[in-house]
Amino acid sequence: MMFGSNTLGNGWVVPADDAAITAATQLLMAGQIVAIPTETVYGLAADAQNAEAVARIYAAKSRPDFNPLIVHVRDQKAAEKLGVFNATAQALAEAFWPGPLTLVLPLQPDAPIARAVTAGLPTIAIRCPAHSVMQALLLKSGLSLAAPSANPSGSISPTRADHVLKGLGGAVPMILDGGSCSAGLESTIVAVRDNGWQILRPGPVTSEDIENVLGYAPLAAINGFIEAPGQMASHYAPSKPVRLNVMASEPDVYLIGFGAIAGDDNLSATGDLAQAAAHLFEALHTADASAAVAIAVAPIPHEGIGIAINDRLARAAVR
Ligand code: AMP
Ligand code: MG
Repeated sequence: MMFGSNTLGNGWVVPADDAAITAATQLLMAGQIVAIPTETVYGLAADAQNAEAVARIYAAKSRPDFNPLIVHVRDQKAAEKLGVFNATAQALAEAFWPGPLTLVLPLQPDAPIARAVTAGLPTIAIRCPAHSVMQALLLKSGLSLAAPSANPSGSISPTRADHVLKGLGGAVPMILDGGSCSAGLESTIVAVRDNGWQILRPGPVTSEDIENVLGYAPLAAINGFIEAPGQMASHYAPSKPVRLNVMASEPDVYLIGFGAIAGDDNLSATGDLAQAAAHLFEALHTADASAAVAIAVAPIPHEGIGIAINDRLARAAVR
């Protein structure tokens, strides 16, 4: 979907150097959307305070408006203007920020945030990202940036600038190219409650990582629902059928291997789960663009970040 007009031309991919970061900052401050690299996946950013800018995100992604956005901030001080931090939230921010952990906190009553960002919820999802380009944009603009993944809603997340171009090229005035995302999976989302914590979306920061910091186990799991709308059954989905836990290749099927199962591509020949996470979405993009009629994926161990990999794969397999 196109929006308005711009003088830059749509789908402008530029290396994220100083000049490009300055240009991107100006676009963001003028209420435009910009696709940017982060350590998790590429994000589609807009001024979180500007309702029109936020509406452009939803329009570009064709994202349902009940699905709230994560707000990216420079540091914990900026986060405290948006969400209410209890001792648990403090401890998590101290341990994992900047980094791939999103905290869902009670919304500050006077938070300078467009309503659409939180989709009307009494809570807000906040993250302080570690990527230098994202940090520079936050610092230069002085803004909080709402930024979901830079892909059409429901499709495979982008971990390279060309993935963004393919999915949203016509809808975004500028795509900052910062190379491949190092983590390659969306942030872990944790809901902080009065009486504990819960993982709403598994990600690069594991449940064990969090338990090690806080010293106690999460509250019993809840049933996803609107509180974690990104947890919709079908998400991250290629255009072809996806089969999981496949041990051997078949004709016309693109096999994404892991460890000893070689496949047409291999998430990590050495069985390294962090490497597999970083390569997952790229492998799905390549498989989707191939001539094969279906995609198969080798078994991935359900441990550490493998839990987040299996979460994304399970949703990619639902059509
Ligand atoms: P995305 O940016 O596409 O990775 O999706 C962001 C996800 O953050 C949403 O799909 C929700 O699951 C989650 N999220 C954002 N705001 C909230 C909130 N207030 N409460 C719970 N989850 C949230
Ligand atoms: Mg997404």
